[in-house]
Amino acid sequence: MKQENKRLYLSSPTMNGREQEYIKEAFDTNWVAPLGKNVDEFERELARFVGSSHAAALSSGTAAVHLSLKLLNLQIGDVVFVSSLTFSASCNPIAYEKAIPVFIDSEPDTWNMSPEALREAFRKYPNPKAVILVHLYGTPAKLEEIMAICEEHNVPLIEDAAESLSATYKGKHTGTFGKMGIYSFNGNKIITTSGGGMLVSDDEELIRKARFLSTQSRDPARHYQHSEIGYNYRMSNILAGIGRGQMTCLLEHKEKKNEIYQYYKKHLSGLESVTMNPMNPDGDANNWLSCITIEGASSVTPDLLMDAMEAENMEARPIWKPMHLQPVFTGCDFFKHPDCNGNSVSESIFKRGFCLPSDVKNTTEDMDRVIAVIKQAF
Ligand SMILES: *Cc1c(COP(=O)(O)O)cnc(C)c1O
Repeated sequence: MKQENKRLYLSSPTMNGREQEYIKEAFDTNWVAPLGKNVDEFERELARFVGSSHAAALSSGTAAVHLSLKLLNLQIGDVVFVSSLTFSASCNPIAYEKAIPVFIDSEPDTWNMSPEALREAFRKYPNPKAVILVHLYGTPAKLEEIMAICEEHNVPLIEDAAESLSATYKGKHTGTFGKMGIYSFNGNKIITTSGGGMLVSDDEELIRKARFLSTQSRDPARHYQHSEIGYNYRMSNILAGIGRGQMTCLLEHKEKKNEIYQYYKKHLSGLESVTMNPMNPDGDANNWLSCITIEGASSVTPDLLMDAMEAENMEARPIWKPMHLQPVFTGCDFFKHPDCNGNSVSESIFKRGFCLPSDVKNTTEDMDRVIAVIKQAF
């Protein structure tokens, strides 16, 4: 393969070899399924890493979001506030339960949920069942402000930290501020089990209940008896083995992602029309994906740049299209960040931005290729 034209990925799985040892152990002990030591240990190791008391390993991050809502006893018609600028998995589970998502705009400082827009939403809907806060692309949201509003209204906060595992806010891990936090180990995330998720909480009863619901809600009886509807949402012992191996490299991946972000920032700083995605000064991001936005009245569009990159065999991707603009959520309420003229903040980021190749295996030479394509366009 011609080295100078090797494909550069946004974020692909990076294995370190230790995953195989845990999988082998599962095979050797025939604990291939359903549960076993890897599941228990992966839960313990992740909980210890993020500083949460309890964790339940699940089949996906989406399953974790879904169970977090079930655990709050979400009912048909209940309102749930959720970040608009996110991947659909943050809010689809609200629809699974026939509850009503109300979308909250971003603020420009971190691209995450706007505390002002959240306040506005509470004026119209004083009793939502929960607030789902996303830490987009691994940048911590304005947690202090969001938490204060949730506490004032006595509404539980669920953190969708699917993209932000290992990112911290004032020294504490994202995902551990709310009543519950969720992580994803999908193939493109900072670490992966090929597919999987985790629900964390300091409330032991919630996590016990999550394990119960995720294994078909079997009552404690010899025969199969069910008093509640259950789910097949548990992580397998094989995938948990991959997770244990991946945990050993999580901080290394974070460091590499940060270097990638800093390298792009440094070498694109000469371009007046280009800005990197913002950091939260109170946080330490995991820089899952590095993004840029095009500022001002440039004739260069994200589509043009993404086409130019694709021609050079580089993977680029638009910013998540905000949920309030999705056909499937037409008619849902949306609260805009104040003082944005015309477009909402989330829509403006969507229209002006895109994600750069941020794979931990990318070298500085690889990034130089990306930078050259961008520079040439301007
Ligand atoms: C990836 C992702 C999820 C879903 O995780 P899966 O493990 O793919 O189900 C949820 N929320 C956000 C913000 C994500 O990026």
